Amino acid sequence: MTGEELKTDGSFRDSIGTMDADGKRKFVYPKKPKGKFTNQRTILATVLLVFMFATPWIKINGQPLLLLNVLERKFVVFGNIFWPQDFYLLVFALLTGILFVILFTVIFGRLFCGWVCPQTIFMEHVFRRIEYWIEGDRGQQIRLSKLPWNNPEKLRKKGLKSFVFWVISFIISNDFLMIIVGTDEWLKVVSDGPFVHLGNFIGILVFTTIFYFVFAWFREQVCIIVCPYGRLQGVMLDRQSVVVAYDYKRGENRAKFKKKENRAEAKKGDCIDCNQCVDVCPTGIDIRNGTQLECINCTACIDACDAIMDKVELPRGLIRYASEESIAEEKPHKYSLRAKAYTGLLVVLLIIMGFLTSSRSAVEATILRASGMTHFEKEGKIVNLYNYKILNKSAENQELELQLISPEGEINFAGTPDMSLEIGKLIRGSFFIAIEPTQLKSSETEIKIGIIANGKLIETTTTSFNGPRVKTKN
Ligand code: SF4
Ligand code: SF4
Repeated sequence: MTGEELKTDGSFRDSIGTMDADGKRKFVYPKKPKGKFTNQRTILATVLLVFMFATPWIKINGQPLLLLNVLERKFVVFGNIFWPQDFYLLVFALLTGILFVILFTVIFGRLFCGWVCPQTIFMEHVFRRIEYWIEGDRGQQIRLSKLPWNNPEKLRKKGLKSFVFWVISFIISNDFLMIIVGTDEWLKVVSDGPFVHLGNFIGILVFTTIFYFVFAWFREQVCIIVCPYGRLQGVMLDRQSVVVAYDYKRGENRAKFKKKENRAEAKKGDCIDCNQCVDVCPTGIDIRNGTQLECINCTACIDACDAIMDKVELPRGLIRYASEESIAEEKPHKYSLRAKAYTGLLVVLLIIMGFLTSSRSAVEATILRASGMTHFEKEGKIVNLYNYKILNKSAENQELELQLISPEGEINFAGTPDMSLEIGKLIRGSFFIAIEPTQLKSSETEIKIGIIANGKLIETTTTSFNGPRVKTKN
């Protein structure tokens, strides 16, 4: 795209930047970005990539740092195990996540897409870098694309790139499998050979192919066409949202740079129409047309324009993080009351989520009076039969005891139950509770049973105790 092709009538919104008039894909060859934001993003991407590949190997209290085993419905986050019984937490986390994303986007635009989205991180910081390394920068890539397919240089470079892309896609697939099934299971798959665990092996190959297809060919189309978050930008952003924006008040009337010319006197804006912001854009758009659905806020155009501004000795920031309102009204962006309120709400949601997670009980106990049974008398005491079901949700084995907290009475098991509870295991059984009749206030008395795990009272459950009718005095 050249400066002459820029559309100022809004018609650029009728089609996406990576498609020609016939609906054919226009492959984007973005120029390698350089600058302050690119450096900062590279550091963050490196940290996130190291974290992602190290995560399956890090254990806390014998549990992985992160395990998302959807097949066995077991989830581990920072060493905390979440079971299907913690479903309410998952629902709350999902609702918090959705609200968080909406509020965050209203305030900070697509900051997530440019800085931490896995698609951007893999595309721009892994696959694109390999492409620059093998095929060279934008100009060399365009030249290579124009060569016929029987050209030895093209065959060699494209072949090598495809091979490296496929290997990296395979590594990413294996990392995903480790996060899903755990490293122990993954090591078993590797040591037993692919044909023993054919399902996992086919899964790896399918995901490798999908990743290869996405990063070798589909690329920015994921953000433009597939990603629901990207598609919802139109309803989430408003005039006060901070996005990567071109300062049209300062930049227009755009005109080519002439040495020693006073642009203000010549009534020219600061944009020298060098097209560098367009050349570096990985989604093939011109940010000077305004905020667009395709923009992933990757900051490449900020760096490109800042470098040009430095060269022509004009102030940086012609393209910058700014809100539409601050540009239109030519005033610095202010953190509005609404943004502050949203931020406060986000913090509250996170605190609630943190509290719910940390106050989760180590065991989940269900104690119910045996259905269809009433009380009976034994040795002058009233006796009821109870069934119990206790699940160990913690990351350690538990030695359990049950204790009647109120009223006074005793718990008797039929036989000697095994109250050792391994991680994730469930025990069931029955016991009797015997209470002196004088302790009963009515035919249905509320009783409290304490669950003691490894010597500590960790939960109290309440149930009812059936007894004879208590005669009231007239
Ligand atoms: S317009 Fe700028 S910030 Fe948006 S995707 Fe293109 S280069 Fe990245
Ligand atoms: S890089 Fe800056 S000066 Fe060059 S065309 Fe883009 S906005 Fe104008």
